[in-house]
Amino acid sequence: MRRLHFDALKPICPTCRRDALVLEPGAQATSNAVVSGVLRCLDPDCGERFPIIAGVPILVPDVRGWLSANLPLVLAGDVEDAAVEAVISAAVGPDSAHNITRAQQSRYAHDHYGDLFEGEPDGAEPPPGHARHCLAEVLRHLGIGRGPRLDLGCAAGRTSFDLAASHDAPVLGVDLNWPLLRIGRGILDRGLLRYPLRHGGDAYERRETYHFPPEADRVDFWIADAQALPFAENTFRLVVALNVLDCVPDPARLVAEVSRVTRPGGDVAFATSLDRAPQATLPFASLEGPDALATMIAAANHDTVGAKPLRPTGPPRDLAWSVDPQDAGAIAYRSRLMTMTTAAD
Ligand SMILES: [Zn+2]
Repeated sequence: MRRLHFDALKPICPTCRRDALVLEPGAQATSNAVVSGVLRCLDPDCGERFPIIAGVPILVPDVRGWLSANLPLVLAGDVEDAAVEAVISAAVGPDSAHNITRAQQSRYAHDHYGDLFEGEPDGAEPPPGHARHCLAEVLRHLGIGRGPRLDLGCAAGRTSFDLAASHDAPVLGVDLNWPLLRIGRGILDRGLLRYPLRHGGDAYERRETYHFPPEADRVDFWIADAQALPFAENTFRLVVALNVLDCVPDPARLVAEVSRVTRPGGDVAFATSLDRAPQATLPFASLEGPDALATMIAAANHDTVGAKPLRPTGPPRDLAWSVDPQDAGAIAYRSRLMTMTTAAD
């Protein structure tokens, strides 16, 4: 956890949402980052404590629940040798939790970083990484003001680096998925991009390269819940939520949270699949058509303190999106990008 981000964003307790967090004494830290430590809620009736593990603060409302579900992933070390990894993959089989996690890492990391490896198609339309393509569209239309930027559902983190490259401000990427966040974290901590690339079944290739994006010192990655963000109202100048609305149990709550943490007059962008993506949660799938989506966004603010109305800054844009799950051929999707601003009153 970079001190730059902690000081600039002043996170609040995601459990009680009443008070700020302080770093307990005894943390393992350098002058600009905390590697391991505990953040504690200052509210005397709450006092919840949140661990910082391998540089990543875990700032979710139910920290026990998240740790119970994710601890094996958090504690799993890297297998340093590709040959050993291949034996492990084959032994446990494609349906094991180990390989399901790796398949997900493969899908997202290849989408985010595939262009950094030789032999990848260059100049293809849409370019590798739908989220990057969406973000490039966002930055063509938004993001001229100064202030911190939030990449909500950042996954493997490439869009967070892209957000930081376009402007001199702290950028925070948040996600609930530890194995995906760890890929971006490796770039921050060691300049090392490493992920498994699936070739079908339990066959994987290890992808590895050094990658030192110059903007990395403005980027940090935290575990946080998009539906219960650990920030006070009006913290961010720009919030992007790309391909995440359809992945949460309560999309309207996510929208309200985004408007709450965005400054008045700040910019917001949502991009989401228009087709029925396989990962879509039931509440999202029940929204019939793009008009229902716009209606949900417009109506989402009513019962969240600090939430603000969101006004479109232009017409929605439909973008092509080609997903290649590597063993099933490319599937063409469409996604809708909506750029909005928070009301100033
Ligand atoms: Zn608290």
